[in-house]
Amino acid sequence: MFIGHPAAGYVWTRFLLKKGVLNGSAGIEYHACLLLGLISSVLPDFDLLYFFFIDFKKHTHHTFLPHIPAFWVIIAIISMLLCIIFKNRQLKKVSLIIISNVVIHLLLDTISGGIYWLYPFSGQECTVFEIRTKYDMWVLNYFLHWSFVGEVILVMAGIFVFFRKKAAVYPFLKMCVTGNKTMYCLNQIKDISRNEFFQNKTF
Ligand SMILES: [Zn+2]
Repeated sequence: MFIGHPAAGYVWTRFLLKKGVLNGSAGIEYHACLLLGLISSVLPDFDLLYFFFIDFKKHTHHTFLPHIPAFWVIIAIISMLLCIIFKNRQLKKVSLIIISNVVIHLLLDTISGGIYWLYPFSGQECTVFEIRTKYDMWVLNYFLHWSFVGEVILVMAGIFVFFRKKAAVYPFLKMCVTGNKTMYCLNQIKDISRNEFFQNKTF
């Protein structure tokens, strides 16, 4: 998956904020949570830097630690223990945002990329749809696969949620509705003035 990750991360973090799971974060904290959610949604893909510049594409980047669920289970356990020991509200929020977004990332990668969910107990790669290599440019194999429609839907959902939040949208819609009502009233007045009764009436 490519473009769907940040969109999914945005929608999910907005959901957490809306449901008050993040203890009513507001103002700068609200936006910081959203930013962290966006970064966390693509966090495992930071291993692409290693893939391109150190590994020189020798191994698929889904075999690297950031894409191994067992690694994140260890991180989750450590952060949970730290939250219990220090009873820190902010640490709890940060852990929840990062871990939940990473889990969503790995689930989405399972659809068409393949994730080693059972590692270290099994080296079996888990995937829903296998994408075969048809084009030399590897990225085209994903962009031109039918499953890419799912990514487009995710992006559209992200755009929808983003604009629904914008306060500017509501006054604009209100203005449209008011304008529409005004036009309707003017038309009614025009129709009444054209009415035969009023045309022939002499006052
Ligand atoms: Zn990934």
